[in-house]
Amino acid sequence: MKITFPHMGRLYIPLKTLFEELQIEVILPPFNNDKIKSIGCKYSPEYSCMPFKLILGNVLYSLERGADTVIMLGGSGPCRFGYFGHLLNMIAADLGYRFTFICLEPSTLPRDIYGFKKLAGCSYGAMARSLTLGWKKLEAIDALEQKYWSCLPYFRERNKYKDILQQAADRIVTCRRAPDIGRITREYSSTMDSLSYHSYRLPRVAMVGDIYTLNEPYSNQNIEMLLTDRSIETHRSIYTSSWVKNSLLPWEKKVYYGRAKAWAKGYLDNSIGGFALDTVYHAIQGAHAGFDGIIHIFPVTCMPEIVSCQILQKVSRQKKIPIMSLIIDEHMEKTGLETRIEAFAELLHNKKPGA
Ligand code: SF4
Repeated sequence: MKITFPHMGRLYIPLKTLFEELQIEVILPPFNNDKIKSIGCKYSPEYSCMPFKLILGNVLYSLERGADTVIMLGGSGPCRFGYFGHLLNMIAADLGYRFTFICLEPSTLPRDIYGFKKLAGCSYGAMARSLTLGWKKLEAIDALEQKYWSCLPYFRERNKYKDILQQAADRIVTCRRAPDIGRITREYSSTMDSLSYHSYRLPRVAMVGDIYTLNEPYSNQNIEMLLTDRSIETHRSIYTSSWVKNSLLPWEKKVYYGRAKAWAKGYLDNSIGGFALDTVYHAIQGAHAGFDGIIHIFPVTCMPEIVSCQILQKVSRQKKIPIMSLIIDEHMEKTGLETRIEAFAELLHNKKPGA
């Protein structure tokens, strides 16, 4: 079996570990780039959202290079994610690729995992070990990313240490034992603390929106770095590990959505698919937590986020917090985004003189 899966930020680290621990060969596409995007755009329906186009580009690239199995999450609910997997499967099959397609749906996860186990021919014990190791890596990478973005604007020599997160990620990639992952995480976490200088507080921005655009730097034009370069501290509202916990573990899901609905009450009373409820909840929570501004980022044609975008205007007025919505598509030029970020950053610095 030669398995492939699409990129979303550093999610490849735990997934690669998970499959390699089961002795399954992984065909990893390159990180998202213009070539991958053009493959995806060429074969996608025109009005697909950007995540679909990039995911399709990833999968077609890997199938062309010998992958015979594709695995990805499918969705449920009224957002397009619900049919991503099936549409992608049909497009690739129409193009003549023959492969096994495994779509993990949150509502049928135990059955899907059992199907994968049978296909991979591995034991439950081996699955449990590789899942545990993969999960530890996912948690470690997300914790380090969180730390990195909140510390990087305060680094004494920012440009010199910009690649510190990649160094940590490279070391975690090769780890085979959970205690080593913990040790590397602690080591890099304290290094980041020691490099930061906190005698002042920079403007803080909460990043809200759909999970893919928030977590995939190619898709969001590396917006966190653009903000950091303008001395803004950023906080991403959804990481993959938090999404896994809040959406796939039934007991966590109940608590999370109960809290989200309570915060969003009066603005959006129920989930309407995608990440709309999360976006409204995180924006309101961010306003109460004292953030100086909120950036809402999402792809063109994303229906749930178009709805939440309207609601955020009311949140901005009533909570008295600047909110900038950025709508991304495959034609967006970085210069256009930079101009808007520049203006927003200036607004926040002017509101927080002395930072
Ligand atoms: S949330 Fe939006 S961007 Fe994500 S899959 Fe659904 S429609 Fe596409």
